[in-house]
Amino acid sequence: MSVQVTYDENGKMSISLPECSCGCEHHVPDRDIYVGTNLLEKVPDYIAAKGLGTNCVLVADDTTWRVAGKRVYDALTRQNYTVVPCVIHREGEMLPDDLSCGEVLLSITRDTQFLISVGSGTVTDTTRINAERTGLPFVAVGTAPSMDGYTSAVAPLLHRGVKIQRPAVCPQIIVCDLAVMATAPLPMIASGVGDVLGKYIALTDWKLGKLINDEPCCPVCLELVGNALDALMNNAPEIAAKSEKGMKILTEALLLAGVTIMIIDNTRAVASIEHNIAQYWEMIMVQQGIKPPMHGASVGVATLLVWPLFTRFAHEDLSGLDIECLVANRISREKRERWMLHAYGEEGGRQIMRENPGDFLTDEEHRRRISRICENMEEIRALIAQMPPVDKVREVMKILGAEMTPQEENIPADLLNRSMHCGKDYRTRYTLFKTLDECGLLDEYLADYPYPFE
Ligand SMILES: [Zn+2]
Ligand SMILES: [Zn+2]
Repeated sequence: MSVQVTYDENGKMSISLPECSCGCEHHVPDRDIYVGTNLLEKVPDYIAAKGLGTNCVLVADDTTWRVAGKRVYDALTRQNYTVVPCVIHREGEMLPDDLSCGEVLLSITRDTQFLISVGSGTVTDTTRINAERTGLPFVAVGTAPSMDGYTSAVAPLLHRGVKIQRPAVCPQIIVCDLAVMATAPLPMIASGVGDVLGKYIALTDWKLGKLINDEPCCPVCLELVGNALDALMNNAPEIAAKSEKGMKILTEALLLAGVTIMIIDNTRAVASIEHNIAQYWEMIMVQQGIKPPMHGASVGVATLLVWPLFTRFAHEDLSGLDIECLVANRISREKRERWMLHAYGEEGGRQIMRENPGDFLTDEEHRRRISRICENMEEIRALIAQMPPVDKVREVMKILGAEMTPQEENIPADLLNRSMHCGKDYRTRYTLFKTLDECGLLDEYLADYPYPFE
């Protein structure tokens, strides 16, 4: 079996997916994805090919208007499209907040047939939520390979200063011009690399989930993301130099990670404990009025933090585990509830518990899992051994000038310690952190992140 990714003369990506009987429900991605150089002038043709209409709102911020928005606008108007520009001006950085979303909404008229976002995360998400609420299709023109969210159907937004996630829609057309991508500042590119490196953890956790909980695990998605990771690891200097080859490898890695979300309709292949921890930092820092690091930058740092727990567990000897003792000493329902409300707040904690009822294990399930872990220790070792040496990951991040530690990202120590303990509780999704917790090892493994809770 082998996944083929090819491009036609217009830069349109096609992915040939082999037959797969992994147990996941598969959807063939039906979005038009274009990657290449000199693509901005072709955007009108891409839109015509998809039959989206001729009347649109084009959303950009000051920077993205300058690097690509104006060119897309000119190309469209030359071909007689009616384009309402919605350029969001800000003194500092534009945020995906109520005001930005409102500006897009008020630019839309009854005649608008589709939306175009020209930007990376913030502009795309601000447009995406409006596309969902108005039912209009949208086109995403990327300007930075900084995160894997172009293909996402969820919009992380700021509502009244609070970080929220809203169901939204995936663009009909995604255009990534590599020359535009190369204009992104290096920290944004390093952020994209961090987001991709986190997939090592996500893939390992997914394989663990299959082993311990018989979770469906798609080899096609594993291969898509695995190949993208290999290419990225082998080409860090090209990426740092922003060469066309480097930009293509990074952009493709981010897009293909997103494509797996379209294929299996969930984010299993792209996000696990490293994303939970990074998102927790972001949520709490926003709440406290501190500017959080870029998404992928946090994911990269969180990846380095959790990695040693995987390598340590590969050497673990579980022969002395007393299953009955572990089951008897499992956290009580009452204490777990207090912990969840403490870590995630009254509203967030209750919502997570409601949405993840299986997370409080029965005695029977707890016993079953520990036994399964003990019986499969050789397989667990083997799948951890498939991860590259962490030093190689560090090296790649260094070449990109990426932030490497929570201190460099100004993550408060208390927040860091708490996040390492509560990241696993964000959802049912199985991770090595649940393995460690269920085997009574987590506190010992997190001795460097003390967070006493009674
Ligand atoms: Zn991400
Ligand atoms: Zn599959």
